[in-house]
Amino acid sequence: ITIKNPIDGAAEESDFEIKTDSLSLKLDPGSGHIILKNLCVSIDPYQINRIKRYSSSQSASNFAVRIAPGEAFDAYGVAKVVVSENPEYEKDDLVVGLITWGDYTVVKPGGMMRKFDPMEFPLSYYLGILGFSGLTAYAGFFEVCKPKKGEKVFVSAASGSVGHLVGQYAKLLGCYVVGSAGSREKVALLKDKIGFDDAFNYKHETDLKATLKRYFPDGIDIYFDNVGAEMLEAAVANMNIFGRVAVCGVISEYTGRKNRSAPEMLDVVYKRIKMQGFLAADFMNLYEDFISTTYDHLRNGKIQPLEDISDGVESIPSAFVGLFRGDNIGKKVVRISEE
Ligand code: NDP
Repeated sequence: ITIKNPIDGAAEESDFEIKTDSLSLKLDPGSGHIILKNLCVSIDPYQINRIKRYSSSQSASNFAVRIAPGEAFDAYGVAKVVVSENPEYEKDDLVVGLITWGDYTVVKPGGMMRKFDPMEFPLSYYLGILGFSGLTAYAGFFEVCKPKKGEKVFVSAASGSVGHLVGQYAKLLGCYVVGSAGSREKVALLKDKIGFDDAFNYKHETDLKATLKRYFPDGIDIYFDNVGAEMLEAAVANMNIFGRVAVCGVISEYTGRKNRSAPEMLDVVYKRIKMQGFLAADFMNLYEDFISTTYDHLRNGKIQPLEDISDGVESIPSAFVGLFRGDNIGKKVVRISEE
């Protein structure tokens, strides 16, 4: 899957195309290469920042290497080794790491990849709750927000891949948790199934500052920001003294060049609010803690993963574009092949 042209604003399915090419399953002996059959691939909002015509953020383009028209996307995924000229991998090994939005991936020596045993869990969990979304939620909440039992936590894009996990970690710690999401169905799911104390549909609210005041009459201690812009401004206005804001992502700013947040900085000063942007990749030191804690929660039924799976490589463009329309509930994954 590739793009035809760089993107302005929101992407549409018609911006993408499928290119096909033949692939020899013979590798040069001793080349260190492996060929993977891709099984499932992660669909992530940040990819839009790699294909924009304009990027106002130099750091975004440094972090997320640009993809030119005609080039294949790389993304986190799960795959199976079909041919190996690398002594570390054997045919049929399962791997998780950077693959392509396509049917096969050829990996050079040193590619970002590791073998893994999925144990009793579905492969897709290793892209969501047991993968980068999970680590993002865990590190962002526990390490960046430094939460305490009983604190009041607000999460935006709360039914999404990262958001629904943040809310559940917060509930397990004994916090009071409210989420915002973009549909009635998502709000009901958060309250009735995922265990949030409350949730609201932000699309039905006209004054987000007043909305948050209604849900948090005693103020917000922690805001886990997935969306930026107006919601960040409203949250800062409602933060308590010594509140913390984890700036995980600003999805509402990815497609609208005019959407920007301008929180009241005097609030930040007088209320001594700590705001921190972070990348999950900075917290690999927490990986063992994260994975063993989350395995335990899953096995004890204390945490519930939400997944939204589409089938077939041809469904990747609509799966991706759908992230920005709010089509997905939970982790968006495309299953490319069953085996
Ligand atoms: P999600 O599964 O949450 O999917 C995106 C969701 O965002 C949509 O379903 C939609 O839900 C919401 N959304 C889309 N457009 C808007 C908009 N204009 N305003 C408000 N909400 C919108 O994605 P992820 O959980 O993967 O990512 C969530 C955030 O975390 C993103 O900003 C992403 O870039 C960031 N991220 C950061 C990481 C890091 O290391 N810092 C790692 C992974 C993700 P709704 O119906 O509720 O609007």
